Amino acid sequence: MSKQVDVIVIGAGIAGSTCALQLAKQGHEVILMDSQEFPRHKTCGEFMSPETKEMLEYLDIHLEQKLQPTTMDRAQIIMPDGGEIEAPLPGNAYGISRYELDCILHQAALEAGTTILTKSTVTKIEQPQAGLYEVQFKQNGELVQYRAKAVIGAHGTKKPRGVVPSAENLRDETVYVGIKSHFTGMQIPPRVELYFCEGGYVGISPIENGKTNVAALLTLETVQGSGTSVPDILHAASLTNQRLADRLAEGEAVPGTQVSIAPLNLSNIPEPWSQYPHIGDAMMMIPPLSGDGMSIALRSSLLCAQYTDRYLRGELDDKAWASEYMLAANQEFTQLLKRTRAIQKLAFAKVNVYYPKLVQMMPSLASYIVQATRLPHMNKTNR
Ligand SMILES: Cc1cc2nc3c(=O)[nH]c(=O)nc-3n(C[C@H](O)[C@H](O)[C@H](O)COP(=O)(O)OP(=O)(O)OC[C@H]3O[C@@H](n4cnc5c(N)ncnc54)[C@H](O)[C@@H]3O)c2cc1C
Repeated sequence: MSKQVDVIVIGAGIAGSTCALQLAKQGHEVILMDSQEFPRHKTCGEFMSPETKEMLEYLDIHLEQKLQPTTMDRAQIIMPDGGEIEAPLPGNAYGISRYELDCILHQAALEAGTTILTKSTVTKIEQPQAGLYEVQFKQNGELVQYRAKAVIGAHGTKKPRGVVPSAENLRDETVYVGIKSHFTGMQIPPRVELYFCEGGYVGISPIENGKTNVAALLTLETVQGSGTSVPDILHAASLTNQRLADRLAEGEAVPGTQVSIAPLNLSNIPEPWSQYPHIGDAMMMIPPLSGDGMSIALRSSLLCAQYTDRYLRGELDDKAWASEYMLAANQEFTQLLKRTRAIQKLAFAKVNVYYPKLVQMMPSLASYIVQATRLPHMNKTNR
C-alpha cells in the first residue's frame, strides 16, 4: 500500500522549497522531492532582486540572521567596445549563493513539518481520478509510489517523463547554454556588472564571504566549437569583450563550483498548468538578464500555495483550483515576460556593437533594463 499525503512538491529549488514551507505552515502534510543531494551548486547569477528579499521576509526567512549576504545598489552594463552605462537599482539587491540559500529554505521547510526526500527522481505522475495523484519516483535504484491529493511541479525547465506540455510553442526556438562559477580575488564594488558579448552576456556580482559569482547565458550557436567546460566558455565570451577578459583575469575560479545547464529555451508564454500546477522555471523561464527568476519563483510559489490551500480545505474543487490558479498566474506574469523578452532581444541583437550610439539616444537604457523587469509591488491579498 503506497503512502498517502496531502501534497507532493516536485523539485526542491527556491520555488518548491518555499511552496512546501508555506503549505506545511498552513497545516498540510507535505513531501518535497528532489533528484539531487543538497547542498549543491546551481547555475544562477545569485543576484536577488529587492522584492525577493521582501517575499522571503514574509515567509519569516531573514537572511542576515543566517549569513552575511552582500548588498548591491546599482547595475553596470559594459558593451563589447568597452562603453559602459550605470544605473541605480530600485532598492538594495542581495548577493547570496544558491548553495547556501537553498539549504536555508530547506531548513525552514523542515521546521514547518515538511518531509524532504533527496536523490528521489520523479519518473511518472498519474491521476486515476479527480482529487488523487499517483507519483512514482526512483530512490536508491528502487521504484517507489506515493499518493497525494495535490501535486505541484517545481522541477525547473525539464518536465518529468510522460508529462505533456499544455500547448505548442511554449518555448522559444533559440537554444542557450547557462554557466556559473564562483571566483575569489575579484574586487567588485556593490553592483552587478553585465558584460555584453557575442551571443549573450556574462554577469558578475559579489556574494557572501568575499566571493564573486560569474554566470553567463550564451546561445549554443556561439559557444559551439569553443570547448564544453565552464572556463572554455568564459574564455570564448571574453574574446568579444576585453573588459570582461580583464575582470576575469583578476580572480581565480573556485574548484567544484562550476556548473552548467543546456539546452535552455526561454518561454514564449507562461505555462501555469499541465496535469498539475507549475511554479518557478517550470511555469516560465524568463530571460536571466532581468535578474528576476528567483523573484518569480517565489511569487508563483506563494500564489500557488494560496489556491492549493483552498483546494485542500475543500473551498475549491479540482476544476476551480486549476482555472483560478491559471487565471491569476497568467494575469501576474504574462506582461512581465513580454517586457523582459523585448529587453533580451535588444541586448542580444547582433548589432550590439552599436550600443554606444543607442545609449546616447537613450541615456536611460540601463535604468530601463533594471526597472522594466520588476514585478508590480506585492499585493498582500495575493499571499
Ligand atoms: C545563467 C543563469 C543566470 C541566472 N541568474 C539569475 C539571477 O542572477 N537572479 C535570479 O533571480 N535568477 C537568475 N536565474 C534564474 C534562476 O536561477 C531560476 O529562475 C530559479 O533557479 C528558478 O527556481 P526553481 O525553483 O523554479 O527551479 P530550480 O532552482 O531549477 O529547481 C528545480 C529543482 O527540481 C529538481 N528536479 C527536476 N526534475 C526533477 C524530477 N523529475 N524529480 C525530482 N526533482 C527534479 C532539480 O534537481 C532542481 O533542484 C538565472 C538562470 C540562469 C540559467
